[in-house]
Amino acid sequence: MHARTRHPAGSGGPKKPHRWIAHVDLDAFYASCEQRDEPDYRGRPVVVGALPGGRGVVAAASYEAREFGIHSAMPTSEACRRCPDAVYLRPDMEKYRQVSREVFAVLAQITPLVEKASIDEAYLDVSGLEKLFGPPAAIGREIKNRIRAATALTASVGIGPNRLIAKLGSEHRKPDGLTVVEPDEVLQWLAPMPVTNLRGVGKQTRKRFDRLGISTVEELRDVAPTTLQKALGPKAAHSFSRQARGLASAEIVPDRARKSISKERTFDTDIDADRVLLDQLRELAAGVARVARREKLTGQVVTLKIRYAGFETHTRQQKLAMPTHDERVMLQTAWSLYANGDLPRKPVRLIGIGLSDWADDDTVQGDLFDEVEEQPADENLLRTIDRVTERFGTGKLQLGIRSKRDD
Ligand SMILES: [Mg+2]
Repeated sequence: MHARTRHPAGSGGPKKPHRWIAHVDLDAFYASCEQRDEPDYRGRPVVVGALPGGRGVVAAASYEAREFGIHSAMPTSEACRRCPDAVYLRPDMEKYRQVSREVFAVLAQITPLVEKASIDEAYLDVSGLEKLFGPPAAIGREIKNRIRAATALTASVGIGPNRLIAKLGSEHRKPDGLTVVEPDEVLQWLAPMPVTNLRGVGKQTRKRFDRLGISTVEELRDVAPTTLQKALGPKAAHSFSRQARGLASAEIVPDRARKSISKERTFDTDIDADRVLLDQLRELAAGVARVARREKLTGQVVTLKIRYAGFETHTRQQKLAMPTHDERVMLQTAWSLYANGDLPRKPVRLIGIGLSDWADDDTVQGDLFDEVEEQPADENLLRTIDRVTERFGTGKLQLGIRSKRDD
């Protein structure tokens, strides 16, 4: 396989294993969304934010607008002076949030270890994905390709041994950039970089660096610690000397807030045919199971939700003997709650299914990225369904479960 770390001559013995952290950043996100959706805006300077004539600021500028020196947080009046012919647009946050959800759905398919940094930025722990995608550069290309396929937008990706290097990497070549920095290249890669690229450099710090004659990371490294402390204070001095040496956290804190996964469907006309309800439930169960598998979750409780006319709503739950992310188990459980339980048998307005009460991580069967070969046949079948569904949409391939009542 691919060598993860090159050992410098004479380093003696293998290095401590490190993590691979990726930082993904959409390029000129708001402006790119607008250019994507309105061909007339493509190739033109687009400025999203306050409209000219007001006192607001620029939220995002397309790369064409940046050539006029327009950037975010600049007063729109100033942008107007620089480029009166630019397209000026109010932000369409609903649109950007929708696109953002699509991007994060793509990232969740790469790894569950995704930490949202902003509407268009995320950190991913991509350690151990080499078996699936290849070396870090290939992982980066895969992330970019999938985002482009799903949203027609470009992202810049930086990959390195920690969050700082990943972030500086994504900024290194924009737009549509990809930068991978190997652990043993970090010091050399940082050396010529302007200190102003480091995290937490404001106006004041900039002045102090100027006064000390520091313009590159290499120069910052050479300053005596006491001098730096005197100029910046102990806390900032500590932060900058760590950054100058390329040291930072590699910890990714994914959003674990999800308590349950559920899907439901409301019908235009109330349904009383079991056959139709079962088909709907089967589709919903498959959707829930797919999300659960993607997020490597197995749940112990299946919930059925039924609504009749007049918003009369009932839920029924069943605790399973074994946690699952198998749509067949979910469907059988939910259907028996409906068919064999105490629910009224009358036309149904809405049907839904949910999975919750996650098992501890170590009870999840196998590991999606390490043991694909060794998984039981069922697991492989389910993952094949997921892949086909992701490529071709739902409905192409489903597991056959038929209720006795149907026959
Ligand atoms: Mg961005």
